[in-house]
Amino acid sequence: MSSKPTVVGLLGGGQLGRMLCEAGAPLNTQIAVLDEERCPAKQINSNEYHVTGSFKDAAKIKELASNCDVLTVEIEHIDTEVLEEIDTHGKVAIHPSWKTLRLVQNKYEQKEYLKKQGIPIAEQMAIESGDAMLASMQEASKKFGFPWMLKARKDSYDGRGNFKVSSEADSKQAWEEFRNLSCYAEKWVPFELELAAMVIRTEDDAGNPKRVIPYPVVETVHEENICSKVFMPPRNVPEDVRRKAQKVATSVVEKLWGRGVFAVELFLTKEGDIIFNECAPRPHNSGHASIESIPYMSQFKAQLTAILDEPLPEHLEPHVSSSIMINILGGAKPDSHLALVEKAKSMYGEKTAVYVHLYGKEPKPSRKIGHITVTGFGSIAELERFAQPLLELTDSVRR
Ligand code: ATP
Ligand code: MG
Ligand code: MG
Repeated sequence: MSSKPTVVGLLGGGQLGRMLCEAGAPLNTQIAVLDEERCPAKQINSNEYHVTGSFKDAAKIKELASNCDVLTVEIEHIDTEVLEEIDTHGKVAIHPSWKTLRLVQNKYEQKEYLKKQGIPIAEQMAIESGDAMLASMQEASKKFGFPWMLKARKDSYDGRGNFKVSSEADSKQAWEEFRNLSCYAEKWVPFELELAAMVIRTEDDAGNPKRVIPYPVVETVHEENICSKVFMPPRNVPEDVRRKAQKVATSVVEKLWGRGVFAVELFLTKEGDIIFNECAPRPHNSGHASIESIPYMSQFKAQLTAILDEPLPEHLEPHVSSSIMINILGGAKPDSHLALVEKAKSMYGEKTAVYVHLYGKEPKPSRKIGHITVTGFGSIAELERFAQPLLELTDSVRR
């Protein structure tokens, strides 16, 4: 073992990168970040390997690659041509594989591929672009009935590329907003709730899965298309359904390429069916509570452990029995979120703990600027009661 620190190159230095740096520090893993000078990750991590610029700039990606042992991402919207080129030259390993990034960047193709692999997805159909789009959308209305979801194939996040089409009039408005994008239509899923599971993946030299280890399934709550809260375990979901969800998540990740952590978003229907929504091949908002609930292998430590091909545990057993993650979003005013943060800092309960994470980002309305994790040793219902003041304050930040 060499005493020279391993250098991990990271494309993007937002909050996920910042928490990756937090996980890397005790392991003496240097993380070289390609992003702006004062991005959240660089604020807490000083080293001589950082590159200033955009992770959308191919020349900068190559510059970063020349300084590191392995390249990874905190965002999937990266130019995969340049990653493929770097990979072909074989100088630096890229994890997850650019093949995974290329596939998931197009949400329609992502689901078509996984459907062929036997993963349950909501029915979808391609929508024509340009002049033929409106007619194609009418076909979708006929096929699916209202409501249905118009989705941009690429570059969407926090629901920004989605339009719920509930009527003919909506259809016209959606067309006006999305006419220049490449889109597809998705059948509406009247889900009971949304679940997610992080999965760690490693592979052998031939690219076959070596270790595929799921985290416990969590319940994600979205408000105005943004994930606002995450509950572990999911509320009122029987053990067998949780197992089934975990199994679907594991099957999805088995079918992808490269090492790292992968987030799998799922819908749970009233009938107890699990439907795959999308996969993000990186640490994810739904996995933040793992920092405290599975401290020996948080999703961030797992990302580093997997891409560096270091030893992983057999199973991921939480050290607490329940957790709630609450996102801190910017409100109407720069200080709208402060009451929530102050309250969280003041809360000490019996066998419960409250952890505040702030990302060093300027508050803007609906921007993710931090999160709070609450953990406990009782039921999720008890923990929800304890966290009630925080949940109420979160609602008031939005107003
Ligand atoms: P992310 O920020 O997770 O990347 P995204 O912009 O890629 O989000 P999706 O995950 O496709 O968007 O959708 C965002 C949310 O919209 C989902 O979590 C779910 O609440 C809702 N949603 C998406 N597709 C459907 C559907 N077919 N039926 C019902 N609700 C849906
Ligand atoms: Mg997405
Ligand atoms: Mg999503």
